[in-house]
Amino acid sequence: MAGDASDSGVPRAKSARWIELAAAINSARTAYYQHDKPTLSDDEYDSYFRELLTLELDWPQLQSGDSPTLSVGGRSSEMFNPVEHLQRMYSLDNAFTSDELAGWLSRVERGINQVPEFLCELKIDGLAVDAVYVDGQLHSLATRGDGRVGEDVTYNAHFIPAIPAALRPPKKGSMPSLLEVRGEVFLPIATFSQINEEQLAQGLSPYANPRNAAAGTLRQRVDRRQDELRLAEQSPTTGERGVAKIARLRAELDLSISRLSGLGLTVHGIGVVEGFEITRQSQGYEFLKALGLPVSNLARVENSVEGVREFIDYFGEHRHDVEHEIDGVVIKVDDLSLQVQLGETARAPRWAIAYKYPPEVVRTRLLDIQVNVGRTGRVTPFAVMEPVKVAGSTVSMATLHNAFEVERKGVLIGDMVFLRKAGDVIPEVLGPVVEVRDGSERPFVMPTKCPACGAKLGPATEGDKDYRCPNARSCPAQLRERLSHVASRGALDIEGLGEKAAYALLDCGIVEDEGDLFSLAEADLLTCEFFRREPAKGEDGPQLTENAKSMWAQVQSAKVRPLWRVLVALSIRHVGPTAAQSLARAFGSIDAIAAADVTELAEVDGVGEKIAVSVHEWFREPWHQMVITKWRAGGVQLVEQVAESRSAELAGLVVVITGSLAGYTRDSAAAAVTGRGGKVAGSVSAKTSLVVAGENAGSKFDKAVALGIPVVGPAGFAALLEKGLDAALTTIK
Ligand code: NAD
Repeated sequence: MAGDASDSGVPRAKSARWIELAAAINSARTAYYQHDKPTLSDDEYDSYFRELLTLELDWPQLQSGDSPTLSVGGRSSEMFNPVEHLQRMYSLDNAFTSDELAGWLSRVERGINQVPEFLCELKIDGLAVDAVYVDGQLHSLATRGDGRVGEDVTYNAHFIPAIPAALRPPKKGSMPSLLEVRGEVFLPIATFSQINEEQLAQGLSPYANPRNAAAGTLRQRVDRRQDELRLAEQSPTTGERGVAKIARLRAELDLSISRLSGLGLTVHGIGVVEGFEITRQSQGYEFLKALGLPVSNLARVENSVEGVREFIDYFGEHRHDVEHEIDGVVIKVDDLSLQVQLGETARAPRWAIAYKYPPEVVRTRLLDIQVNVGRTGRVTPFAVMEPVKVAGSTVSMATLHNAFEVERKGVLIGDMVFLRKAGDVIPEVLGPVVEVRDGSERPFVMPTKCPACGAKLGPATEGDKDYRCPNARSCPAQLRERLSHVASRGALDIEGLGEKAAYALLDCGIVEDEGDLFSLAEADLLTCEFFRREPAKGEDGPQLTENAKSMWAQVQSAKVRPLWRVLVALSIRHVGPTAAQSLARAFGSIDAIAAADVTELAEVDGVGEKIAVSVHEWFREPWHQMVITKWRAGGVQLVEQVAESRSAELAGLVVVITGSLAGYTRDSAAAAVTGRGGKVAGSVSAKTSLVVAGENAGSKFDKAVALGIPVVGPAGFAALLEKGLDAALTTIK
C-alpha cells in the first residue's frame, strides 16, 4: 500500500501527505459525483489533485494502483443500473497557466514530430454522458461513472428534447448501424438561476454550480416517481391525506420533468462507430450535425499555436456571452490518426488538454453577518468573509439583502460558504457547506436596534421584507450615506466630495445635514483638520488643501445642475434618475412637485402610484422642507433651466401628448410644454386641459373624446407653444 512506502526511501511526511490528499480527493469525488453536492470548491479540489500529481512525480513509489491520479473521477451510484460503455471514457488533463499549455504543446509536437491542426472548443461545465444509437434510434444514455461503467439514465432522456430519440438519416451515405457519442449535458445559466430560486423556495440548499445542478437534474429516478404516483392513485384509501399525497407526488413529478426538459446537450466526442469513416474530429462533428445531433457552433480549427492562444484569450473575455457556463476551453489534436499515435494515460488522452479559466465559485469562511444602514434607512445584512480571491479580485464582503434572504440561504455565522463572482457581477453567497459544520455555527439575528443610532428597527409597512431605521433625520449612518449620495455621479456629481470628505463634514460639525452643504463658506472648512494643511513659509496660518479648494468650487458649480439631478440628490425613496427626469419635465420646478397631489404625480409618464405616494409623503415632512429651504437659500437652482428663460404662458395647463409629432421626440415635446410653465401628464383625466394627438395616437385620444377634452393635432401644438391655449383651440375644426 502506498502509505507504507517509507521503507522504500520516501520520507514519512510525504507518505502521510499522500494518504491525506488521496483521502480528501476521494471523499470530494463522492460528494461531487455521487451526491451532486460538492464540499470543496473546484479550485481547492484542483489544487489537492495537483499536489498529489507533483508528489507522485517526485516519489513515483507512492503511486499505488488505487491512486486518484490513475482513475476517472466518479463511480456509479447504486440508484441506477450500470451500463458498460462501448469504449472507455476519459477525463482531461488540465493546464492552468500559459507555461503549462506550452508544456503540453511541446509534448504533442515531440510525440508526433509536427505541429498539428488543433480543434479548439469550449469546455462546457456540465456532466459527461455517453449516448449509443443503434440504427439511428437512441439505445442508451449513461453518465460517465468511472469511465468504464456509467449510470443508466436512458429513461430520463425521453424528457430531454435536446437529446434526439432518433437520428436524421444523413443526406449522403447510410445511417451508421452503431454510433456511440460523448457529450456534455448542461443547464443554461438562466435555467440554473431559476432552479436555485426554486430550491431555496422549497427550503432546499441551492446547487453550488450549473454542473452540479445539471447532474442533480439528470440523475433523478423519474421512473420511480411515476410508479409511486401511479400506486398512490390506484390506492383504494384516498382520504384527505391520500389526496394531498397524490397532489404532492404529481407536483414533484411535474417539477422533475420540467427540469429535465430544460437540459441542453453538446456532443464533443465519438466512441465506437460502425457504418461511416472519418479522419478528423472536426469532420466527425459535421457528420454528427448532419445526423441531427447538437454540436457546438463555436468550435474552431486552428493551425498555429498563436491561433490556439487567441481562442483561449477570446473566450476568457467572453465566457459570459455563452448560454451555458464554461470553465475553460479544450484543445484537441484534430487528426484522428495523430490522436491514436499520442494515445492515453490511465486517466486522460495525451492528445487533448483542458485550459482552465480562473474559478468563479470559491469556498470561504463566513466570519460574521453585520448590517449596513443605507441612506433611506434600509438595514441590509451583509456577509463578512475570510478574504478570498475570485474572478480576479479579492472579496471579503457580499450583500445578503435582508433577513429573509439570510434564512432562505440557510447560512449560519461560522459556516464555510460557497461564494460566486461571475465577471463584473457583484459577489453572491450561494449557500453553506452543511457537511463541514462542527456545531459552533450560530444563526444570524436581525438587530432590533439601529447599530448607528439605537433607534428601534422594524419594517416600514406591514409585509415589507426590509427593516428600516426610522430616525432618518439624525441617524449618523443615514446622514453619512445621504451626504455621500448628494455628491455621487448619478446625483449632483460633486467631484472631490467623496465618502471620506462627507464623513469629515459631519464629524467636524461643519454641516448638520445635507441641507447645510450649499451655504458652506471656505472658512468653515478651515475649522476641520481633514480639509486644511499646515501653512507653508510666508503663509499666514493654516490653509485649505488643494482637494478642499477644488471640492468647494465643485459644490458651487453643483448649484446649477438640472432639476432632475436635484431630485435624485434628495434621496426620496424609489426616485431614481428615470422618475426624476419625468417629474422634472412634467412639473418644471420643485415647488410645483411639492404642491402636486398623489393623483397628479401618478399621472406623469414613468411615475406610478408607488413613486407618487413616496414623493408626496417626502414633501410633507417638515425637516425635508427645511432642506429645500436651505438649498434655495444656498443658491441651488430648483427650477428647470428652460422654464426660467421663458414666460410661464402655459402655467396651470395640464397637457397630455400622445402619438408622435414630427420634429419632436417624446421628451422634447414634453420639455417644450414644461419649459413654458405647463404640466405634462401621462394619462387623460378630468384635470387634463388639452390632449395633443400626433400620428398613431392610441387610447388616450379615445379617452379624451369620451371625456369631452379638447384634442389638437400638430398644428394645434405649434399654436399652443407659440401663442397659448386659445390659439391652439382655434385649430380644432
Ligand atoms: P474535467 O471536468 O476537468 O474535464 C473532463 C471532462 O470535461 C470530460 O469528461 C468532459 O465531459 C468535459 N468536457 C466539457 N467540454 C468538453 C469538450 N468540449 N471536449 C471534451 N470534453 C469536454 O474532469 P473531470 O474528471 O470530469 O472532473 C474533474 C474536475 O471536476 C476538477 O478539475 C474539478 O473542477 C471538478 N471536481 C470538483 C470536485 C469538488 O469537490 N469541487 C470534486 C471532483 C471534481
